[in-house]
Amino acid sequence: MSAPADVRYLSGFAGSNGWLLIGEGVRILLTDARYREQAAIEAPAFTTVVTPESLPAALPSQLPPGMARIGLDASSTSHSTWLALTGGSQVEWVDVGGLVAAQRRVKDAAEIAAIRRALGLAERVLREVSNEIRPGMTESQVAARLDYASRCQGATAMAFDTIVAAGPHGARPHARPRDVPLSDGDLLVVDFGCIVDGYCSDITRAVWVGSQPTDEWLRIHAAVDAARAAAVLAIEPGVAGCDVDRVARDLLTRRGLAEHFSHSLGHGVGLEVHEGPRMSARSEDVLAPGMVVTVEPGVYLSGVGGIRLEDMVLVTRDGSERLNQLETAILCSERAA
Ligand code: ZN
Ligand code: ZN
Repeated sequence: MSAPADVRYLSGFAGSNGWLLIGEGVRILLTDARYREQAAIEAPAFTTVVTPESLPAALPSQLPPGMARIGLDASSTSHSTWLALTGGSQVEWVDVGGLVAAQRRVKDAAEIAAIRRALGLAERVLREVSNEIRPGMTESQVAARLDYASRCQGATAMAFDTIVAAGPHGARPHARPRDVPLSDGDLLVVDFGCIVDGYCSDITRAVWVGSQPTDEWLRIHAAVDAARAAAVLAIEPGVAGCDVDRVARDLLTRRGLAEHFSHSLGHGVGLEVHEGPRMSARSEDVLAPGMVVTVEPGVYLSGVGGIRLEDMVLVTRDGSERLNQLETAILCSERAA
């Protein structure tokens, strides 16, 4: 296994360069000299082997004699590495792509607790920073404040590049923050998340620069929020990702807005911010207790702006638990008088 999230999940090792070799009586963590100390501390159940070579080049010499078949995750192995390992090898190599990622979908209590901490931190930061936003600040400055406050309050990193998009820019679901000053009356899409104890959070809210959003945006917000709430309620064990996506999309169809909801409903979250199960119109991934997924419907009006609301939801034995505490209402940077 070489995908960093899989390596961390199975061994505890959080470095960027590690391969695991696991078999009967074999638990080897291959890494380079930078990680000698860290590997021994984080992965005590594994024998650390430090090599100056590239890890795939060093792997064959570590295979125990007599090992006939070995599984390798081709989805996290480059084509050239796969060819170099398997070409002319005496061992049979089998693609076991997605094996560990599938296990990672269902979280245990410690993982869920870490996700709750990561989300709680992000919500505190979002509430704090949204109150500080003023006309004249740029999208980049707001994003930097979110990142800085997250790190100051205990996040080890951001889960992904923070999105802050004002006005028409908010119509691009994955907009990058610009050095453009905000104006009174701008509506912002703020989508960010942080990492705590290895686990990610992911939240999106609408923030209004000023005190009173327009009626038109309040109407669109109400529709997106209703779609979000309906999707959260639809989550339970045995339901497929496509079923939940459909609930949100149907609601926006009834409000005449479905054509403006241009992406999937959500995704699983854990050691990676985007992991299984998929929550899209085509996803047949079936939800099970212990999975943590996002629900993030949005409406994007080209040239005008957008609203997306994203919650994190835990699938429980008899339904679901919404992990968010922060309200989904439009957060106003200046409270109404
Ligand atoms: Zn997000
Ligand atoms: Zn998301």
